Amino acid sequence: MTTAKTPSARKPRQPKPVTVTAPEKCGTCDGSGETTTTVRVGRKRREIGATQTGLCPTCFGAGTA
Ligand SMILES: [Zn+2]
Repeated sequence: MTTAKTPSARKPRQPKPVTVTAPEKCGTCDGSGETTTTVRVGRKRREIGATQTGLCPTCFGAGTA
């Protein structure tokens, strides 16, 4: 009952950099940690003029490279 459940988000294995340097901005999200993608619908992938925000797949929302 006292076991704290932690969200088990799967993280792809990535080699961690050995040397710790100053955090650089993630190039994918430009440091915001989020990416904006255009919403496409239909078979023809028609853009409906809407965008959705998602977690940056590169930095996982950290905003740093
Ligand atoms: Zn990013």
